[in-house]
Order: sequence, then C-alpha cells, then structure tokens
Amino acid sequence: MQEAKTIWFNGSLIPWKDANVHVLSHAMHYGSGAFEGMRAYEIDGRAAIVGLKAHVQRLFDSCRVLYMDLPFSPEEVRAAVRDTVQSNGHTSCYIRPLAYRGYAELGVMPDNCPVELAIASFTWDSLHGKDGLENGVDVGVSSWRRMAPDTHPAMAKITGNYVNSMLVVMEAKRHGYSEGIMLDTAGYVSEGSGENLFFVKDGVVLTPALGNSILPGITRGYVIDLCKEFGLEVRETRILREMMYSCDEMFMTGTAAEITPVRSVDRHTIGGGQPGSITKRLQEEYFDILHGRKSDRHGWLTFVENPQTGEASAVSAGAGQEG
Ligand code: PMP
Repeated sequence: MQEAKTIWFNGSLIPWKDANVHVLSHAMHYGSGAFEGMRAYEIDGRAAIVGLKAHVQRLFDSCRVLYMDLPFSPEEVRAAVRDTVQSNGHTSCYIRPLAYRGYAELGVMPDNCPVELAIASFTWDSLHGKDGLENGVDVGVSSWRRMAPDTHPAMAKITGNYVNSMLVVMEAKRHGYSEGIMLDTAGYVSEGSGENLFFVKDGVVLTPALGNSILPGITRGYVIDLCKEFGLEVRETRILREMMYSCDEMFMTGTAAEITPVRSVDRHTIGGGQPGSITKRLQEEYFDILHGRKSDRHGWLTFVENPQTGEASAVSAGAGQEG
C-alpha cells in the first residue's frame, strides 16, 4: 500500500503511522463498522472527488443500521474528506472513511464502546487493471451466496459483511477468475464481491434490483442515469444465472472497479469476447466526465482546491466547494 502523510482521525489530521487501534476494539472482534470507498480523479491539477455527498450519505445510512451515532454531521464529514485529500497533496486517489466501535468493553453489546471515525486517502489503481478495463475480465459464479435479507443488512456497507466478499474473491482467484458472482439466497444473480452487475440483451440494459441483496452502488446509480440519458431502457429486475450466459454484453460497476467489461462467465464467452458497444459507450462517457473532458452535468464532482499547498487542519477548517 502506498502510504500517505496523514489520516483524519476523530476530528484531526494525524501522521499516517499513528492512526492505530487497540486489539480489543469492538470492531476488531465483531465487524461493527461501516465504511465507504470513494475516488478522486485529477482535473486541471485539482482533485475531483466523485459522489462525495452520496458516499457520505450512504455512510450515515449504514451507521444508522448499526445504531451507531456518528459524533459529526454529514457536512463535517464531507469537509473532513476534503481536508484529508488536501493534506496528503493528492489529486488522484482512493478515499476510505471508516466508522467503527472502538475500545471499552468486549461484550457483543456495543453501547459502551466509542464510535470512532477515520478517513484515509491513498493512491490505488483500478481494481481490475488497465487490461481488465480495455479487454474485460473472466468471472465465475461463486459457491458463496450473498447474505439473505434477514441475516446481514446487505444495503449497508458494514465491515462484517465483507467476510462474505472476501471468501468470494478468494474462491474466484483460486479458480482462475478475476471476480466471483454471487447469487442471492433465492438463486437470482446478485453482485460481485465489490461490484454491481449490468447485462445488455437485445439493446435493453438489465441489472439486479435492490431486493436481490445488492449494495446500492453509487456507480450503479450513475450508470443507470447515463443509460437513461442515452435513451436506453433500464430494467432493475430478477436475473437468472443462465441469462448471463446468453446476454450480449456484461459489465461490473464500482468505485474501485469503475466500469469493467466482463469477457466470460463460468467460461461462457459473452458476446464476441470483446467489450460490447453499449459497455464501451458508457465507459467512455463515465471517464470523460471523471477526467474533465466532458462537463459534470450531473453534479458528480467536488473539487478540492490547491492540494499541494494544503495544511493539516481540524474538521471545522474544511473549506472549498461543497458537494
Ligand atoms: N457491491 C459491493 C459489495 C461493494 O463493496 C461495492 C463497492 N463499494 C459495490 C457493490 C459498488 O458500489 P460503489 O459503486 O458505490 O462503489
């Protein structure tokens, strides 16, 4: 991991190496945390954070599910994210806010454990690499299901949920795939370990619905908006495993995965084995907006001013454009 200078920790920016937790912290044992993953792309020497408001809102929504009251407002957290990126001098980076139950008592009941918030920014390439983005990746259906709705809250980005994702991606790699595809407990297609899924069949765009135990991806929402803008019909619907095998195009979306074409599922080649035309058009439009080649007409971006000259500051000092 490429270390940066500072991490925002409970209200102030501290040196990266000092952002540590006690081994008996509640979250270490019970997965009682919620997190986010954002990206910033460089536009004219400035960091443009993608979906800052939406990601921070999802963090608060996840915390709510855990009855975990953050001692900061969404505005303060957004300012803290900007401060973190600025203090690290980042223009292009990945941003990881993490809220969790800290150290006090070790019972499962968390009420006496403090709610802590850390925000890190660091450089991180696309999850599936340049080759994956250009040529697509090979995926396979996992033997692990996405959690049932009455077990873990799938809509919340809760740290404990990611044991599921970890098992999925480890199994996928063992089988020679880049990613594993989870079915939900009813057997319908759900999502990847860290990506939402899209399919194109006869010009119609299909994606699993929230009821299929997916995480409501911010990128998923952006891609749906772009599809609608392009005049494409989008159906959020139940998708059967075999529908994947006969679709014309398939791609995965996520902050880390961006828009990654899928070349094959369970060794069935998708379309012609090359990224399809709708996938490529969406990918191009998405990157054009994120890299500033096209206008940010949907208001996805929040700019961080003068990243190189930024200085460490407390949460209240967050300045710059709100987003
Ligand atoms: N599903 C899961 C399980 C994820 O971890 C992610 C990454 N956050 C996504 C979908 C995609 O979400 P987003 O587009 O908000 O990054």
